Amino acid sequence: MPPQSTPKKRAAFKRKLLAWFRTAARDLPWRRTRDPYRVLVSEFMLQQTQVSRVLEYYPRFLRRYPDLEALARATPRAVREAWDGLGYYRRAANLHRLARQVVKRHAGAIPSDPVALEDLPGVGPYTAGAVSSFAFEQPVPAVDTNAARVLKRVFGCRTAKEARTTALALQPRSGKTAWNFNQALMELGALVCSARAPKCGQCPVRSVCSWYLSNS
Ligand code: SF4
Repeated sequence: MPPQSTPKKRAAFKRKLLAWFRTAARDLPWRRTRDPYRVLVSEFMLQQTQVSRVLEYYPRFLRRYPDLEALARATPRAVREAWDGLGYYRRAANLHRLARQVVKRHAGAIPSDPVALEDLPGVGPYTAGAVSSFAFEQPVPAVDTNAARVLKRVFGCRTAKEARTTALALQPRSGKTAWNFNQALMELGALVCSARAPKCGQCPVRSVCSWYLSNS
């Protein structure tokens, strides 16, 4: 755990972040659902692709494959066509393999446990945490690049491992609050604490941010 991560600071950070998210959250279609298949599709699409582009392709893909069974029945070629324009086609191939594996091994039900999720094609630690939290409201961390950057700057985490330990210490116990917290952390990294030009002047957590306090 980095030295800047004290219980008092973590509590203040959570409070400020959640208050900001209540007013600043973008209304995104995958935030309006808890359907594991729909959450999973959004997470695969959002890997390496901007939200604005995913917003175009997500409804189109779901119209063609409205559920996991429909995707599992499709041919690899048809899935590739439905993904056309989004790039990184390996994601489409993995999603298709995943659908077939879930039908075969889990009777069509996407697992809620991050460990079982990580066993599926194309699912790494972040996606496993994201699906577990965003679809099943499990209180587990979901630390993507944006979230890790915020944790590094606010708490002085020097490694991905320290960021993960800090995320675990920050994790709310209630699944519903954890859902909001994980979304809020990523949203702050995407909208305010960007990699190249963080908007510290507008940041809701600047009063507890180590990076800001040592650079202002
Ligand atoms: S104060 Fe600046 S560096 Fe700190 S979290 Fe906010 S935007 Fe990022």
